[in-house]
Amino acid sequence: MTSSTPTGLHIAEDVEALIGPRHAAELRERLRDFTCLLCTQPGHPDRGAASLVIVAHGAFHSARFAHADCLPSCVVDAPDSNALPGAVELIPRAVGVPTPQGTRPVLLLAFEEELLLLDNRTDPLPAYLTALGLHTGTGLGRAFPASPGWQARFGSKGYLAVDGPSGPILTDGAMVVPPVWRDLVHADGNTVTVLLGRLDHDHIWAPHPPFGAYQQALRAGTLTGGLVTAQFI
Ligand SMILES: [Zn+2]
Repeated sequence: MTSSTPTGLHIAEDVEALIGPRHAAELRERLRDFTCLLCTQPGHPDRGAASLVIVAHGAFHSARFAHADCLPSCVVDAPDSNALPGAVELIPRAVGVPTPQGTRPVLLLAFEEELLLLDNRTDPLPAYLTALGLHTGTGLGRAFPASPGWQARFGSKGYLAVDGPSGPILTDGAMVVPPVWRDLVHADGNTVTVLLGRLDHDHIWAPHPPFGAYQQALRAGTLTGGLVTAQFI
């Protein structure tokens, strides 16, 4: 095998200095298919070199990727640093959480692009989430207080939109809604517990909901929740 095509994930020195060696190693290890931040075409580090691009949304930093030919590894500022949920995609998941009162329907919204917690900095996420009217400190099995101004709308073919009190949180989302989960939402008077925040990549994509990881994130304040109205349209 002879090939001169460079492959792998390139991380510039200043980028690695910002995110720290642990995040850099994790991202190098994990990167598979990605969508190029610049040309929006698919890429894979085995087929051509990729670049790590850190997008700064104010105090938040998320990891994105690009073809190395499109954009070198760098740190860029997001155009609107205040619109975090709109700028960083959310992965929705319908989860049934077992509680002593029965199964509670939970709509989990996890940031897709990894929101990096930089070493030696205060995590800006808990304050950001509570400012949206979500609540910290409630255990997964307990009922969350209501979050006024929030609404989740479910349409046909898995369409999902979520609004917060100050604007859209998720637009044009797609999620599998199991009929039994939908029945639970109806039975709760068309309300659903929304959980929004940061989870590790493996926990977002775990085949079975990792309740222990959710609970840990709730305790840390990086996952917050509230009871919101649900509408089936
Ligand atoms: Zn590209």
